[in-house]
Amino acid sequence: MSAKKDAYDAALDAASAHARAWLGSLPDRAVPPRVDADALAPAFGGVLPDGPSDPAEVVEALARAAEPGLMAMPSGRFYGWVIGGTLPAALGADWLVSAWDQNAAMRYPTPAVAAIEEAAGAWLVDLLGLPAGSDVGFVTGATMANFTGLAAARRHVLARRGWDLDREGLAGAPRIRVLVGEERHDTVDLALRHLGLGAPTPVAVDDQGRIRLDALAEALTAAGDAPVIVCLQAGNVHSGAFDPVGAAAELAHRHGAWVHVDGAFGLWAVAAPALRHHLPGLAAADSWATDAHKTLNVPYDCGIVIVADPGALRAAMGVQASYLIEPAGPGGPADPLEKVPELSRRARGVPVWAALRSLGRRGVADLVEGLAGHARRLADGIAAIDGAEVLNDVVFTQVCAAFGDDERTAAVTRALLAEGTAWMSGSRWRGRAVLRVSVSNWSTDDADVEASLTALRRAVASVG
Ligand SMILES: *Cc1c(COP(=O)(O)O)cnc(C)c1O
Repeated sequence: MSAKKDAYDAALDAASAHARAWLGSLPDRAVPPRVDADALAPAFGGVLPDGPSDPAEVVEALARAAEPGLMAMPSGRFYGWVIGGTLPAALGADWLVSAWDQNAAMRYPTPAVAAIEEAAGAWLVDLLGLPAGSDVGFVTGATMANFTGLAAARRHVLARRGWDLDREGLAGAPRIRVLVGEERHDTVDLALRHLGLGAPTPVAVDDQGRIRLDALAEALTAAGDAPVIVCLQAGNVHSGAFDPVGAAAELAHRHGAWVHVDGAFGLWAVAAPALRHHLPGLAAADSWATDAHKTLNVPYDCGIVIVADPGALRAAMGVQASYLIEPAGPGGPADPLEKVPELSRRARGVPVWAALRSLGRRGVADLVEGLAGHARRLADGIAAIDGAEVLNDVVFTQVCAAFGDDERTAAVTRALLAEGTAWMSGSRWRGRAVLRVSVSNWSTDDADVEASLTALRRAVASVG
């Protein structure tokens, strides 16, 4: 027994020492990795060893070899894509989840994680102002949260047409029209492909990428009596803008549509009093997807699906098998497996609980408002650079900037990334090359913002 305990202790001590060194390096380290994956291949590859190695030595070797190839994504100067950092309580809880090694599929065998995830789910529904009694499922990310919400939508709109999806499948079913804004996230299309729903019908957007209500009304009318799903967006990855969810949902419901909201990072605006006005009527939708690994700053990976009608979600995701014990009997509280696509599952909701418990309601609001405040400061600093232009209305955590023509903007982006103080993604928005800034990390502070702006000014000067 003690030899096993010693083996765990040594492996965990090695992991803890390297984790602390990594986190401790973040304030001063350059953001980009120093080597690429091909250069690292020999350190990890070669012939699989014939026999066992000491576990602590494996952890030690792993951490040492990986270090040069790590991107400082949890750095306060990382603004790429929409990533998010890691809150201390969430990271600690995530370590426990691995050590506990609970298969969180069912309530009965793992009561602790069931109770923790149910509490986290209830807190989320409350914080986001969504209908009490909504079901909450913890999945890998917003792609799968969208998939899950849209799967509930698909089954529901077909059932209302008298089509039994579980029995008949999609072949021969009434064709579902899925209406999306032209600037929805690409993974919405991916989720629809997984669901066999084909390409969605794009609806025109305004200059910030928000779905236009007049265009939506036209598209709903054009859909005639087809079953319809409307997929809205809370938080555009370029502008940060929010679809007019409440008004769009009212329109859509008049046509009998299911309304789903992709709020991967933007849904959290409703948890902040200063930003809540961007999402009036959010609770009128039928399902919502968000990420905990973005704005809430829990470690990868964790997405969240919320469905107002628990029956619709459980009908779409539930499984029956004789060996899955159901001591509560039908009608009891849902097992996690009834709310997500997976059967076996990591207890992803536990770090969410820890994040919410450590922040409290005010801490969540401060976190979200702080991200938006730093985005505002970065935007102001960029706008003050000669020849720079901020292209979006900075309403949330996203800033899109150009530095003259596409070529010059791309050159500034390359120079910034090569210098390494700050990391921002290049992208294209509304036909132009842009430098995209996403502030998603709790640890970003004023000094990070200043250092990043200084680096950006140097990059601009270097391209002339
Ligand atoms: C990030 C993102 C997604 C996909 O989320 P994953 O967690 O990467 O699966 C979907 N929609 C929006 C708006 C996003 O920002």
